Amino acid sequence: MNDVDSPFDFDLLVIGGGSGGVRAARMAAQRGARVAVVEGGALGGTCVNVGCIPKKLYSYAAHYAEAFHEAAGFGWSIPAPPRFNWSVLKANRATEITRLNGVYQNLLTGAGVQLITGWATLVDAHTVAVKGVKGAEGQQRYSAKNILIATGGTPSVPDIAGRALVITSNDLFDLEPFPQRMLVVGGGYIACEFASIFNGLGSQVTQLYRGEQVLRGFDDEVRHFLAAEVRKAGVDLRLQADVANITRTAQGLVVALEDGSTVTVDAVLYATGRVPLVAGLGLEAVGVKQSKDGAIEVNAQYQTSVPSIYALGDVTARMQLTPVALGEAMQLVDHLFGSGHKQMAYDFIPTAVFTHPNIGTVGFGEAEARAKFGQITVFKSEFKALKHTLSGSTERTLMKLIVDTASDRVVGLHMVGADAGEVVQGFAVAMKAGATKAVFDSTIGIHPTAAEEFVTMRVPVGG
Ligand code: FAD
Ligand code: NDP
Repeated sequence: MNDVDSPFDFDLLVIGGGSGGVRAARMAAQRGARVAVVEGGALGGTCVNVGCIPKKLYSYAAHYAEAFHEAAGFGWSIPAPPRFNWSVLKANRATEITRLNGVYQNLLTGAGVQLITGWATLVDAHTVAVKGVKGAEGQQRYSAKNILIATGGTPSVPDIAGRALVITSNDLFDLEPFPQRMLVVGGGYIACEFASIFNGLGSQVTQLYRGEQVLRGFDDEVRHFLAAEVRKAGVDLRLQADVANITRTAQGLVVALEDGSTVTVDAVLYATGRVPLVAGLGLEAVGVKQSKDGAIEVNAQYQTSVPSIYALGDVTARMQLTPVALGEAMQLVDHLFGSGHKQMAYDFIPTAVFTHPNIGTVGFGEAEARAKFGQITVFKSEFKALKHTLSGSTERTLMKLIVDTASDRVVGLHMVGADAGEVVQGFAVAMKAGATKAVFDSTIGIHPTAAEEFVTMRVPVGG
């Protein structure tokens, strides 16, 4: 594998040390390739620094608010009202993220990957120039047989009046001071998750979504159920609503809405999607083709229009999920340095939205399944979880199965409820293996759990 006569500095040079880039670099180096990673920011990329990990830590923090409330029904008395200290959470999160940055660095260097700190630009099909950070002047050039672009994405904010006054998810984790009143714009993953998180942490949260219901693309019943639950929990969710302009006043940020009303808040979070991070990469000059939205176009082997240059993860704007970037990286390494037999499958990719309560989902929503399979059978269970018989919480759980009637295969599985992501991960294996409803029915439940509902639903609700 290690080609000592190679005219190139490296067999693989990876631009971007995030989820996809680190996985590809580490796996390629373990197969004996000479590998470098160029990273201009912090190792671990979006997921580790301003995405999945700090988000989930803040979600755990927010869940304590419910737990304190619910404890009384189980006999606990908490002497004084619990107080939340935002500075402690931020500091502890920062310490953990710094630890993870170090873990990533050790993983890479331990595998023999050379780390290059700086921002990369393509010079030609086999050469990258790196502008150093940390005061280093000038540019360094490196050559590689293969170049992988794994530069991820960045938040996109529409051009509204007062745009300079808003924040994105990148700014949220270190926000100072804690926003007592917050407006969240958007109805996707990030908007819904942070509306729940800041509501849980004690902010008064208003969420605006321009369409009829949040989380477009998810099962319609899941969307409506989630909206009802987050409203019950305290989020002021307003549909078919949008911002006209934002101004700063002594009372805070005054947000004028298109319906003529105003909301005054301490912070406005725009979570209106992410776009591929390609600025400064020099794609056009080298001839790497992009789609209209800037995403790098690739074939089934993640090869761009320039044969020696590959791209994967969020910069290709397919499914913007960490496990997808990891899966793509594994396939690419197998293609470049292995058997070439691995194939990344994009069907039945499970996903969770860490709202309160969580959504977990895999496969098709009801409308989507009906359009694809024609005849479907739907099973549904909606209930108050056992815990809430004593907790006093009015939170409800929704579980739904969608079956292709002709084949009996379970083609959609959805849950809104506590730990839905944890529950759905396991079922995703069964769905991937093509489990039929008969297999679900013959599976013995674990009692008493919420998850057992998925194997005990017997009476269809419709088709
Ligand atoms: P990234 O992880 O973004 O890494 C790209 C790296 O490239 C960055 O470190 C960047 O600094 C570097 N870079 C960019 N340009 C250059 C350059 N020119 N030179 C050198 N380096 C460069 N996904 C989930 O699966 N679960 C979740 O719970 C989840 N939560 C999320 C929460 C938030 C708030 C956000 C924003 C995202 C979340 N995601 C989640 C999505 C997930 O973070 C991304 O899908 C994933 O990080 C994509 O990995 P990547 O390797 O494509 O890019
Ligand atoms: P999404 O694409 O999920 O959602 C964007 C939202 O913003 C949609 O509701 C969209 O509305 C709305 N929107 C878009 N443009 C405008 C506009 N001009 N004005 C008003 N509203 C607008 O993006 P996110 O930013 O939430 O997240 C990016 C991606 O990151 C996600 O798609 C997901 O892949 C990933 N992610 C995954 C997480 C997880 O796995 N738990 C958590 C967080 C992020 P409309 O629907 O009408 O287009």
